[in-house]
Amino acid sequence: MAKQLLGKEVNASYNERVKEMVSKVVAQGVTPTLGIIRVGEREDDLSYERGATKRCETLGVACEKFVLPEDVSEEELLRTIEEVNQNDKIHGVLLFRPLPKHLNEEKVIQTLDPKKDVDGITDGSLAAVFAGKNLGFPPCTPQGCMEILDHYGYDLTGKKVVVIGRSLVVGKPAAMMALKKNATVTICHTKTKDLAKNCQEADILIVAAGKAGVVDASYVRPGQVVIDVGIHMGDDGKLCGDVKYEEVEPVVEAITPVPGGCGSVTTSVLVGHVAEAAMRTLS
Ligand code: NAD
Repeated sequence: MAKQLLGKEVNASYNERVKEMVSKVVAQGVTPTLGIIRVGEREDDLSYERGATKRCETLGVACEKFVLPEDVSEEELLRTIEEVNQNDKIHGVLLFRPLPKHLNEEKVIQTLDPKKDVDGITDGSLAAVFAGKNLGFPPCTPQGCMEILDHYGYDLTGKKVVVIGRSLVVGKPAAMMALKKNATVTICHTKTKDLAKNCQEADILIVAAGKAGVVDASYVRPGQVVIDVGIHMGDDGKLCGDVKYEEVEPVVEAITPVPGGCGSVTTSVLVGHVAEAAMRTLS
């Protein structure tokens, strides 16, 4: 039976570090605050917002919401972002995407001040991940993957890490972060030949394909650590990941379950970034 890598165990220690940061900032008379900018009422957004708001409350971080109608004009949304950029009481911003089609998402994202980009979506934040620049914040989900590996004591030095997925939100930054930890990294995607063989060669397999059950028992071997980033609603109405858990778990050394693995660590990292953004304003 594989060791389960549990989000709640990672969060228990990660959140202690966040609480320490929050109390240092509060001692200086500042309340770390997350600004949430949401356009419309998409159920996915509302669900993530509820989770993030609750985690903020638990960790002593305040939230301020900016909710705009689905048909908001681009000018008004840009004005809201500029206001939040200027507002010293707001340290970090969560901007829900995708935005409605009539809005230029790229323009909207790049209007956000990278110093407040706690979700790691601006070019400034990505430059930090890819070129080591001290700007913005890394995207929360791949950082969450690294927090899980760190928490359970997996040293990536010299290890072969295979990432399935090359999105800017998860796959590419996860690969860069593993590289920074001295892993030898392979990025796989829809055009990769013999995906199963590539995956079998991994010591650590990070799966962010965005498709339920892409990885089955034929992709893995004993001794591997599998991080499943995917979240899907299965036909049976239960949440599942990109990995066929029932097949893969008996083979590998360790695995993140879905739910209970990566998802809740992502939320903690977001709140951690708000605390860090507030800390940075003090120095
Ligand atoms: P995406 O659709 O933008 O990217 C998926 C990537 O996987 C693409 O680069 C594609 O080339 C690759 N891919 C897709 N199918 C493949 C296949 N069959 N074989 C090989 N490569 C394949 O998705 P994303 O935004 O990167 O998200 C990935 C997954 O992570 C999704 O399931 C998403 O729901 C989940 N996610 C989870 C969290 C979290 O907090 N746990 C956060 C963000 C995203």
